Amino acid sequence: MLELSGIAVSPGMAIGKALILDREGYRITRTEISPHDCENECKRLDQAVREASAQLDARQARAAEVAGQRVGAIFSAHQQLLLDPVVRAEWERLIREQCVSAEYAVSSVLNRFAQAFRQLGSEMLVERVNDIRDVEQTLLEALGGTPLQICGDADGAILLSHDLTPGETARLDADRILGFCTEVGGPGAHTAIVARGMNLPAVVAVGAFLHRIRSDSLIILDGFTGRVIIDPDPEVLAEFRRAQMSHRDRSVALGRLRDVPAETLDGRRVTMLANIEFPNEATAGFLHGAEGIGLYRTEFLYLGRDDPPGLDEQLAAYRDVVARAEGRPVVMRTLDLGADKLAGSIPAVTESNPVLGLRSIRLSLRQPDVFRKQIRAMLQAAADGPVKIMFPMIATVAEWECARRIVDDEAEQLSRQGWQPAEHVEVGMMLEVPAAIVLLDRFIESVDFVSIGTNDLIQYTMAVDRGNEWVADLYAPFDPAVLRLIRAAVEVADGAGKPISVCGEMSSSPDTAALLIGLGVATLSAPPNAVPRVKSVVRQIQFDDCRRVAQQALQCAGADQVRDLVHSFLRSKLSDDVGQEVLQL
Ligand code: PEP
Ligand code: MG
Repeated sequence: MLELSGIAVSPGMAIGKALILDREGYRITRTEISPHDCENECKRLDQAVREASAQLDARQARAAEVAGQRVGAIFSAHQQLLLDPVVRAEWERLIREQCVSAEYAVSSVLNRFAQAFRQLGSEMLVERVNDIRDVEQTLLEALGGTPLQICGDADGAILLSHDLTPGETARLDADRILGFCTEVGGPGAHTAIVARGMNLPAVVAVGAFLHRIRSDSLIILDGFTGRVIIDPDPEVLAEFRRAQMSHRDRSVALGRLRDVPAETLDGRRVTMLANIEFPNEATAGFLHGAEGIGLYRTEFLYLGRDDPPGLDEQLAAYRDVVARAEGRPVVMRTLDLGADKLAGSIPAVTESNPVLGLRSIRLSLRQPDVFRKQIRAMLQAAADGPVKIMFPMIATVAEWECARRIVDDEAEQLSRQGWQPAEHVEVGMMLEVPAAIVLLDRFIESVDFVSIGTNDLIQYTMAVDRGNEWVADLYAPFDPAVLRLIRAAVEVADGAGKPISVCGEMSSSPDTAALLIGLGVATLSAPPNAVPRVKSVVRQIQFDDCRRVAQQALQCAGADQVRDLVHSFLRSKLSDDVGQEVLQL
């Protein structure tokens, strides 16, 4: 038995066999071919190099259009590597001399180069390793490979991997895979958010462990505590099975809360909304008792594919959500691509700090055609039911005004064609960048509503990458600096009579949710499966107590102090099984 621990990012318990996805090492196994096929294999390689080269050309042109020639030039460096005669000769030599597949030759040679660059240690050369990986991936795809290949039987398995991107996570078959565990990753990354949305227990940042796992190992994954046990002893296994059963019983009990309001004992009504990434999650949200959709992350329609969705496809998805909502409000967020959400159809520029770079609304405003098409589809869907449009990551008033003008302009054009929304389409912005909160009084008159994206707000307030396990301890929702910003935003919004909600993950954990309620937030948007847990806690506490605790928290000096304060408050109030589970968090 081997016990590891990491960061629990998606609650739940799973017991299953190991399914290893080794992305750092070789996914391409050595495949030998007959000596007679070597010439054909070289021709196949030649064809793939041409295709990959055309792809890189297209990427270069798109990147140059969006972000200027300097950025486009990055892809020309990839092109040089792809067409380098020395590299090409090495691939062909391997195919002819060792009778191996083109895929193996490509991976093996490029991996050798990457290793050599890594060992030289210079930062500039280490950066080139990612360029090599990009060229390798493009070429392997041109050879007919798919970016993510899970080999082995996924039924009842726990996926173990070095890392998973949000797009890859979204494509996992949740009916077969029971959960996942990765060597790296951070608590606020989108991979974690997608896992929660899919109800997949997950633990990240366990450190290097894949080399210690046998393919027939049995794995216990505890998405509450971050424990991962490999080949458990029989008593440990039995104990986990019991814990798993009682967790299921608690879920059934929570299900009964679906139709009761989230209201504190002294009558403060909290509106619970759902965060979704895909239209079908809306139904899950309503089944869990959500009163509307508070955040639809539309960018997931763009992930994991090479061509962007056209207007019709977007419209169909948006209409689907509106139809499922049956008259409840739906907040559609415009594209939030970039950083850890990269879409094949939108050029990924290589930046040294992508989280501070061309992402989110900044990317949308640089691509007016893509942005306008999305706005048009959202407005058209608003003819079927109440839709609100929300912009992510606004940092300046100029960005807000520019994005808002585009919505007004598209609405005017549609009106001339006879379009009528079911209800007035409200347009709002997310508060994720501290600058927007500091300057909120300059925005507030012209916005219809605001929603605090605490995931990014924590990242930008604490200057800590939300996906980086090395600084995960600084990614602290309880930090008083974060709480003071939230309180400041609530004061400005309340003063102007504008609705304010929180749609970041702070809404989904009962302890931080209680704090938000005390800070004056009355609308919380959380992943569907978090809604009943938060509701259950809200119904056992007093608003007055929450306010008192929040006031004390605002005066604390650090996150640990605030966490202790909130946990000791909840410990004194929650006595049932759900409360016990909540307090374990
Ligand atoms: C946030 O940042 O809190 C948020 C809701 O947006 P996302 O997690 O998609 O960045
Ligand atoms: Mg965000």
